[in-house]
Amino acid sequence: MQNTNCPEVEKCLELIHLVLDNEAPAEQENYLTEHLEMCMQCLENFNIEKEIRTALKTRLENKKVPLDLINTIKVKIAEID
Ligand SMILES: [Zn+2]
Repeated sequence: MQNTNCPEVEKCLELIHLVLDNEAPAEQENYLTEHLEMCMQCLENFNIEKEIRTALKTRLENKKVPLDLINTIKVKIAEID
């Protein structure tokens, strides 16, 4: 049965950040990998954190996206006025 209520979710989240930033030592990364197989809560956190990082990375690599967004917002504000 899978654990849906992690007893050390804060600690796991810290580890998740380290692993995603490639700052965790191999043994901690292995521990997390094993933990995620039996801990649904942390697996979910891991996926969320991973998606956030992917989104941030995409924005950094494609600076046109936020600029377009800013322009869209400016246009919308102008329309309101
Ligand atoms: Zn956990």
